[in-house]
Amino acid sequence: MKILVLPGDGIGPEVCHEAVTTLRALADAKNLSLAFEEDHAGGSAIDTYQDPMPDSVIEKAKASDAVLLGAVGGPKWDEATGDMRPESGLLKIRRELGVFANLRPVAVTDALAAASPLRPEAISGTDMLVVRELTGGIYFGQPKDRSGEPGAEDAYNTMRYTTPEIERVARVAFTWARRRGGRVCSVDKANVLVVSQLWRDVVTDLHAREYSDVELSHMYVDNAAMQLVVRPSQFDVILTGNLFGDILSDAAATLGGSLGLLPSASVGGPVGLFEPVHGSAPDIAGQGIANPVAMLISSAMMMDELNQPEIAAAIRAGVSHALDQGLRTADLHREGSTTKVSTSEMATAIREAALHSL
Ligand code: NAD
Repeated sequence: MKILVLPGDGIGPEVCHEAVTTLRALADAKNLSLAFEEDHAGGSAIDTYQDPMPDSVIEKAKASDAVLLGAVGGPKWDEATGDMRPESGLLKIRRELGVFANLRPVAVTDALAAASPLRPEAISGTDMLVVRELTGGIYFGQPKDRSGEPGAEDAYNTMRYTTPEIERVARVAFTWARRRGGRVCSVDKANVLVVSQLWRDVVTDLHAREYSDVELSHMYVDNAAMQLVVRPSQFDVILTGNLFGDILSDAAATLGGSLGLLPSASVGGPVGLFEPVHGSAPDIAGQGIANPVAMLISSAMMMDELNQPEIAAAIRAGVSHALDQGLRTADLHREGSTTKVSTSEMATAIREAALHSL
């Protein structure tokens, strides 16, 4: 299997290195042939190719079985505009790979409950998956424009969804619900937006036709934002559109106490894109203190998608073992109750426990 690795910028290369080392070790132990090819993305691609996501990299991605991406961006490229921004490279690769569903699991184990900004009793039992539509909605809708004279300007975007776009992402959510707790909560703003009324109708129809074994509920996005911080444990799978999903998945991301824990997978096309939720963290880059867990669990999601569930399970077992032992990178360390370790020490402990669990 061919994996394209795009380490990107900031802490991206640091955490990617650990993920690749771990995948190599586990693949060797299982006699699985994994070939890694590395290229640039984001700021490092601007420096090398004068383009944050050149077509040559897109071609390599399409010829791979999966893409593992670190993070892009940083102060060096903050002045760049339009298509020259590192983040526009991310939008391009998502669009080119046709990955219309973004999956973000958020699970808060007992070992991590103390790090959550919520009280332990409020966070206890939280284990959800946010399924966000990624290639449609208001971020891509046409027409969009900004015009007029200064002082009297006018600007608008268009939030548009079609029935097939809603159905395909809803299928992903229902399928995952069957593998998990059997419940989908579809989040919209159907009391105000006609696009949300279509969303709700399509999800309801599809559920009745094909997924009636899954429990379906609907929630307005304002209530969902509130419920996420009041009682996050009520959710199993949250299904939502691009804009609402962007906001809600970041709110859900904070529940675990550090962005450094949260993985993501973008799927739906022939080649999936696997990346941590966090950015390039320029404030801690180059210090060897970044948390590698989000990147490692992203690589576990990749192995699941590539039908290698044993390797995926071993990585997750390794993470649980290291956390249960009290090992924490600086973002989660609490003086007196956990042991502070570096990026490579954390990843080594995870790797050894993962190999042991195979
Ligand atoms: P960020 O996620 O990079 O960092 C936010 C905070 O979380 C920082 O204090 C950082 O030190 C901490 N943090 C993040 N990941 C961590 C980890 N693995 N271990 C320990 N601490 C971690 O977000 P930001 O500061 O808003 O953005 C920095 C740059 O990253 C910007 O250029 C932004 O555009 C870019 N960005 C990229 C992506 C992506 O590549 N998918 C996502 C978000 C932001």
